[in-house]
Amino acid sequence: MEKKRLKKIIDNAAFLFLVIALGFILINYDLVPKSQASPATATKQVQEKSLGEPEITGPPEFQQEVKEAIAVIKEKAPIHHYFLCKFVTKIETSDNPPNDKFFSWTNSQSPTIYFNPKLYSGHLQHKNDPTRRIGKYAIYSALAHETAHRIQFKHLQLADQREIEAQALAAERDILKQLEVPQDIINRISGNHILNEEWWEN
Ligand SMILES: [Zn+2]
Repeated sequence: MEKKRLKKIIDNAAFLFLVIALGFILINYDLVPKSQASPATATKQVQEKSLGEPEITGPPEFQQEVKEAIAVIKEKAPIHHYFLCKFVTKIETSDNPPNDKFFSWTNSQSPTIYFNPKLYSGHLQHKNDPTRRIGKYAIYSALAHETAHRIQFKHLQLADQREIEAQALAAERDILKQLEVPQDIINRISGNHILNEEWWEN
């Protein structure tokens, strides 16, 4: 029992690190300056804080699925919803994936999460299959994964690509856990064995 608990803690440590680091960052950026801010700065902060959900563009079925996923995230995984709204302004399909294996991606230039339309079409055929990585939970995992990368780009300078991806995978496991996905499914679709695919290498 103890061992199992410890393993769970270690599994989630990468994402916890991100959240804790971010907690400090948000306290420093958002809360501390607010108490001493000039009226102009305060107005700007209110505007930043009230930023809404990302704008979604792409085929109607894509827009619909992402919109529904965000509504579920808002209800069941509010911390992920908060990060998504804070760090992502657009979600769209794009024909320029870094390589063909990328279902979703982001980059340091723009607060946008991109989805690969070809793989998204494939996903539609397995939309109800919870056991596939690009199945039932693909949009949830992808949003948590790419949001983690956006946080990394903005606030954490990590050099090791494997560590960067491990942290994003841990964010996937965390969101799926909040959505009450069974642990065996979570391990199957977002376990650390996925790192062996090394999708970030060309
Ligand atoms: Zn990644």
